[in-house]
Amino acid sequence: MADASREYWIDGQDAPGSSDARITVENPATGEPIGSVPVGAPADVDRAVDAAQRAFDQWRWTPANERADLLHEAAQRTLSTAPSLVDALIREQGKARPEQEEEVEWSATTLRYYAELARNNRGRVLPSGEPRTQLNFVLKEPYGVVGAIIPWNFPLLLLAWKLAPALAAGNTVVIKPSELTPLVTLDWIRSCFDHLPAGVVNVVTGTGPEAGEALVRHPGVRVIAMTGSVATGQRIATVAAPMMKHLHLELGGKDAFVVAPDAAVADSVEALTYAALFNAGQVCTSAERVYVPAVMHDEFVEAAAARADSVRVGDPAGDVDMGPMAAARFRDGVAAHVDEAVDRGATLVTGGRVPDGLDRGYFYAPTVLAGVDHKMTVMREETFGPVVPIMAYDTIDEAIARVNDSPMGLGATLRSSDPVLVKRFFEEVKVGTVWINDPLTDNYAGPFGGMKLTGGGRELGEEGLESFMETKHVHWDLSPDAKDYWYPY
Ligand code: NAD
Repeated sequence: MADASREYWIDGQDAPGSSDARITVENPATGEPIGSVPVGAPADVDRAVDAAQRAFDQWRWTPANERADLLHEAAQRTLSTAPSLVDALIREQGKARPEQEEEVEWSATTLRYYAELARNNRGRVLPSGEPRTQLNFVLKEPYGVVGAIIPWNFPLLLLAWKLAPALAAGNTVVIKPSELTPLVTLDWIRSCFDHLPAGVVNVVTGTGPEAGEALVRHPGVRVIAMTGSVATGQRIATVAAPMMKHLHLELGGKDAFVVAPDAAVADSVEALTYAALFNAGQVCTSAERVYVPAVMHDEFVEAAAARADSVRVGDPAGDVDMGPMAAARFRDGVAAHVDEAVDRGATLVTGGRVPDGLDRGYFYAPTVLAGVDHKMTVMREETFGPVVPIMAYDTIDEAIARVNDSPMGLGATLRSSDPVLVKRFFEEVKVGTVWINDPLTDNYAGPFGGMKLTGGGRELGEEGLESFMETKHVHWDLSPDAKDYWYPY
């Protein structure tokens, strides 16, 4: 296979690292190296931020409709480059092909949505104290340089959710992709954004603690927009606090999936299988805890296990439903959750092992656990793998209490057609997104993000644009004359 190695993208061109140190990137389905990128040092981050600061002086004054045209062009290029981006995602990230195709398409949609939204308005006019002679208005301004720190599970889409609103609002951006997926990020930016003025978008690769933290510490970066784990978010918040940076953190989840007594087993199992196994369970909104009525439990567990067994697992270069996990350490972490649950008395109904014939790469079989409880790690901490732990409940009160019994609050799903129960559920659960019957579906006009330790940031929708605009109030008295309310009293 051709070597896909890349350098940084700084100031509109490929730029080498300041040292020879490289990160080797692997195909998670085979464990084979596919290319490498430089290990970013603080000096490299400085170069990228300098370029972004210079570009900001021009980009912030570019008319919004011109910025919109440039973002539409990026969207069009994304769609016309889709086949090669999908192949690059498959090689580097590991989701099944239909999921990669959706990622590329949705990234283009995000660019189009914010291209239009950002030219709609830039503030509001207020009634002033003296309507004839004074004008009061609120201006929405770009911050300056935005640092975008990205995870590996949706390397293009979660970047698009930051990049599109940040650019549309007039900011410039320095991207630090995940160490696991830097190649496809660089491919996308090089091929689809090189018509933007130099320095408006820059990419520096490297590790989180070094390149990532250098970006967080850099005094020239006003906003850090990051998606990742709670632990990384807490670290970033600690480092950024003394500089009062604007933080936009989209962190981990432990989403609950509740089956109501009125729900049909078969369709709920289909919905659950999709919600739990999409991207091998490596979605922040994956269904990670399942609650079913006690009377339905045995039938549901049996059907869920049969459906999990029928999921086609394999190299996403072929025709499969589910690919590998992203790295060996993530598979080990998932196995540790499953093993601990079994040690504490859970029943391993299916899975819990490497699938037959898939010893290369980082595969883990779709796994169903029954007899779990909230003392087990698999019901408390993010598992981030293809694991479906199912717990019985006796009353809806108990089910809602279980949903809220989590330090994280990203999303939750309810399967029900009972309107009284549905309303009670979406009012009482402490999460940022509630799905009724149809899990994981996003709407680009609707905000996405979480409550509690998930971080409280919102992407998509008007809220997702607002995050990249700073608010200024202007009080304008049209007359320079002295006022009778000044000294002397
Ligand atoms: P991660 O936290 O390990 O890494 C995310 C990014 O942060 C990477 O680019 C990494 O290099 C960088 N980073 C790590 N340490 C850093 C530091 N000290 N300073 C600055 N940057 C640093 O997460 P991951 O394993 O890449 O992604 C999986 C996690 O992301 C899961 O917890 C998942 O739930 C979460 N996630 C959340 C959402 C959401 O919208 N809430 C969406 C997708 C993924």
